[in-house]
Amino acid sequence: MGTKFAFVTGGVMSGIGKGIVSASTGLLLKSRGYSVGIIKVDPYLNVDAGTMNPYAHGEVYVTEDGGETDLDLGHYERFLGINLTKKHNITTGQVYFNVITKERRGEYLGKTVQIIPHITDEIKNRIITLSKDTGVDVMVIEIGGTVGDIEGLPFLEAARQMWVDLGPDNVAFIHVAISPILSATGEQKTKPVQHSVQELRRIGIQPNAVIVRSSRPLEEESRYKIALFSNLPKESVFSDHDTFTPYEVPLILESQGYGKFLTKRFNIEEREADLASWEEFVNKLKSIDKQVPIAMVGKYTKLKDSYISITEALKSAGVFTSVMPKLIWVEATDIENGQIKVEDVLQDVKGAVVLPGFGARGTEGKIKAIKYLRENNIPMLGVCFGMQLSVVEFSRNVLGLKDANSTEINPNTPYPVIDLLPNQKNIDYMGGTMRLGASKINVVKNTTVYDLYRKEIVYERHRHRYEVNLKFLDKLIDAGIKVSGWSDQGLVEFIELSKKDHKFFVGTQPHPEFTSRPLNPNPLYVGLIKAAI
Ligand code: GLN
Repeated sequence: MGTKFAFVTGGVMSGIGKGIVSASTGLLLKSRGYSVGIIKVDPYLNVDAGTMNPYAHGEVYVTEDGGETDLDLGHYERFLGINLTKKHNITTGQVYFNVITKERRGEYLGKTVQIIPHITDEIKNRIITLSKDTGVDVMVIEIGGTVGDIEGLPFLEAARQMWVDLGPDNVAFIHVAISPILSATGEQKTKPVQHSVQELRRIGIQPNAVIVRSSRPLEEESRYKIALFSNLPKESVFSDHDTFTPYEVPLILESQGYGKFLTKRFNIEEREADLASWEEFVNKLKSIDKQVPIAMVGKYTKLKDSYISITEALKSAGVFTSVMPKLIWVEATDIENGQIKVEDVLQDVKGAVVLPGFGARGTEGKIKAIKYLRENNIPMLGVCFGMQLSVVEFSRNVLGLKDANSTEINPNTPYPVIDLLPNQKNIDYMGGTMRLGASKINVVKNTTVYDLYRKEIVYERHRHRYEVNLKFLDKLIDAGIKVSGWSDQGLVEFIELSKKDHKFFVGTQPHPEFTSRPLNPNPLYVGLIKAAI
């Protein structure tokens, strides 16, 4: 069979869990033995998410091949257990960049270059080429934003054209919209959903299914109304109500026949879905009552989505160890400003993650937290910037190198224990130029990190410009830092303190959360939770 395309659109407002529905759509098909790919379309002009502040956009998810992508790719990889690429995140920026480059090259010589057909052709081409290259049975395409946004129009137009080009058996439209509950009357209102479907139909797209987000299950009356106004049978309207965990969404949709609906819609063989291990994971996640308090020390703590892969990695590690992490968010800027005392926030935690980050704000707060965690023998995992700052802390307070720092924070520090990677010195462009993506790490035997991975070679994903300065390494090692992982080029990838000095003090330059999967959590996060228990 040729590839089938499922477009997922959103209505009424953003942030209603369209990414989870898209991932669930993929999972229900995958669990029936179909191979699935999944693309996120982001209708902004940035070429990728890498240049955006986490507060604007949440976490930047890093793919194996070094793409700096939307956090939805993290949902997709976790739900589907697959590795996607930078090509699975299409932005308006990339599309225009390519079309304008082609125009300058003369590829459209003699023509007026327009949104239709040149931009829409470029969009279709990207989706179809990727589907051909990866050979998947089904490609799910989530269109970011909300129907009615000006930015999204060329993508919706391209989707509409694909339906005409490829025929109705090969293209499906799934629309996700929210039905609010009025607090005064407790009534489930369907009008916003109706209007968003209307908007979609106005631009020529008739959805094949409407998935309704709501805080409670969709009432029969609401289902009936939405079906009627959407020009659909009632069986094509599905309830996506609040759940204990987003991992439950595929199960809820499956129980309403959504998987079967998809195979029927695409005219492909209906097979029994194998969701046993997923169900087991969800049941365990819901039933574990033991908890361990884990501090999350960072500076984007007001938007939890900034660290979503880390919270998900900890959750999966919790299911694995049967003790769930209870996250205590600690804003490093507040420690730095003296608004909160480090001992007040950390004295009761059993473990901590010192989170990744960029720039000076909050740095001194993080360093104070690391000092407390080190001196009080509290298990901690420092991730990327968190690892770099643990080297800074150790240099200052154990080696006595006053004002030691990363040159990212203080270019004039007398002790640049963290410094720019050699190939980062002459960079003009900020976009896509960090050390990015998965690379080989040689794990050193007889270390905590080796005990956790039980492998001499691992691949983890990177996103950084700075590294441990090898000039200071001998001093650090003499004072008790162990290097537990090296890159082939001799860069420090993992560090730790020996078990006799500290229960669990591990720093990782790469981001192990990006390879963590619900059914297969990353060993370093499991290690932290075990040490905390
Ligand atoms: N700012 C640091 C660097 O660029 C760490 C980056 C991170 O935490 N992802 O090296």
